[in-house]
Order: sequence, then C-alpha cells, then structure tokens
Amino acid sequence: MIQATEKIWHNGKLIDWNDARVHVLCHALHYGSSVFEGIRCYETPAGPAIFRAREHVRRFFDSARLYRMDDFGFTPEEFIDAMRELVAANGLNACYLRPIAFRGYGDLHVLPFNCPIEVYIACWPWGKYLGAESLEKGVDVCVSSWARMAPNTLPAMAKAAANYMNSQLILMEAVQNGYAEAVALDPAGFVSEGSGENIFLVRDGVIYTPPLGASVLPGITRDTILQLAAAAGCTVVEQNIPREALYIADELFFSGTAAEICPIRSVDRIPIGSGQRGPVTKRLQEEFTSIIQSGGGRHPEWLTFV
Ligand code: PMP
Repeated sequence: MIQATEKIWHNGKLIDWNDARVHVLCHALHYGSSVFEGIRCYETPAGPAIFRAREHVRRFFDSARLYRMDDFGFTPEEFIDAMRELVAANGLNACYLRPIAFRGYGDLHVLPFNCPIEVYIACWPWGKYLGAESLEKGVDVCVSSWARMAPNTLPAMAKAAANYMNSQLILMEAVQNGYAEAVALDPAGFVSEGSGENIFLVRDGVIYTPPLGASVLPGITRDTILQLAAAAGCTVVEQNIPREALYIADELFFSGTAAEICPIRSVDRIPIGSGQRGPVTKRLQEEFTSIIQSGGGRHPEWLTFV
C-alpha cells in the first residue's frame, strides 16, 4: 500500500496529497497516454540523496518526447530541483519518487493534442520490491507465456503507462502460478526482461545482458551495473540471449530501481547454479551499496543531495 505523505508537486507548485486528483474523463485513463519514472532517494551519511537523478530525468524527457508531450515549460535542471524540493517538503530520508506526465481532461478524441499536459511528482517511503529476503535469497521465476512488445509497436524505450499492460499480463500470470516474477522473451524468442526489471546472466565469469533491441527498457540500474562491472574488470557483453541459456547460467539476477540487484534462484523450477546467490551478483550488490553508503564514493555524480 502507498504510504501517504504531505505534499505532491503539480506543474510547478506543491499541493496537498489529497488534492492530487484527476477527472474520470482524463485522456490518460482511457488511452494510456502517460509517461513516468521510478526513482529512489537513499539515506546516506551526508543526508538524503536521489540516485542518478539526471539520468532518470533524461529518460523522462525522452519518453515524453516520443509521445510529443515534452513541451513542459521547464528544464531537466528545474525538474531535478522540484524533486529535491518535494523530498525536503515531505521530510523524508529515503523514498521512492514517481514523476508522471499525462494527457489530462479536455477531449476524448484519440488525437490527444487538445488535452492539457499535467505533470506531477509524488514520493513516499517504499521498502524492498520483491520482498525483504529477496536480495539475499533470490527469487523463483518462470519464463512468461507473454512476449514483450514487438519493435515498431509500442516503443520499449519509452517508460509509458501503456507498456505496463504488457507487464501486468506477465506479472499476474507469474504470481498466480506461484512465482515472484517472470522473464519475458522478445518477439523473436530471445530473452528480454522482467515485468519491471532488466536481467543479467553470468556464465564462466562473463556478464551478459540483452541489447536495447530486445524490447527492453534502458534501465538506469542496468547502466549502473554495466559501469560497475566494467570498472571491476569483468567482461560485460550486450547480446541476444537464447532462452535455454537461462537454465544453464551460473548466475542470474534482475536489476531495477524498485528491485535493485536481485538474484534469481530458479527459472521454471530449475535451480540456477548452486540455487543460491552467486559471487558475481553478491559483489555487484556490495559495490552498489557501497556507493550509497559512502555518499557517492567513486561516483559522486550519481547522487543528487536533497
Ligand atoms: N524494465 C522495466 C519494464 C521496468 O519497468 C524497469 C523499472 N523502471 C526496469 C526495466 C529497470 O529500469 P531502472 O533500472 O531504470 O529502474
């Protein structure tokens, strides 16, 4: 459940949490016309810090641009300041931030240009997405019977609400069949991603992840891992991954803002590697945590202090 906070940012102003409402004839509700972000603000020794704010805001503007909604009237820098202002106003040390831009109330024509664009940012405390134990013990997943969107249909590079209808099909099926998550394939049958996470595979010390052409969201955590792994001297390869490579991997893990770095311990009830969190996954988790705990460490540019 969402834990209410005091304020929500709307088109440049802080408003009360309970006043952030939309009309039932809002365009986005009918046609999925919204783009959003998911960002974490971490508690650090130097105070609350938003993780990779610039990259998230860039993706937000990119998603909006793809849907011709990026005429916001404010810059990415102003948007980052808005997030800082909001976290401070709500007095939170750590939270999840949810910026959203959508086509509002005005017209119900499929052509959306007569609807106002509304921009909101909310934030609230949020724990571990795939369960408190998941980061150590790992999660059990299946391969989804649903594929990700085909190229040239709904753009996977946009973090758009409509894409999450596909994610919901993937996640509902998985959870109802007793799994924590699913791995979806792309339309060609190669590994794509989870319903809300990118995926990584380790075999013989080499780290693999699907390329952006495999209908994946360009994850900020995915990019973080690519950079941390390369700096640690690991070979990292972005390439198409056949489904069967999942079952014979030494290690598998998900990456995402909500899920963080989460080991996968089985796929379709087949244990992965030893069935426990592997050494590469553990090391990357430790590197990730140390960046936050050291208030930035080797990557001060990744933290934006509130
Ligand atoms: N794929 C999908 C479909 C997602 O929803 C997310 C979460 N935003 C990710 C991947 C991971 O992206 P990030 O690391 O930027 O949170």
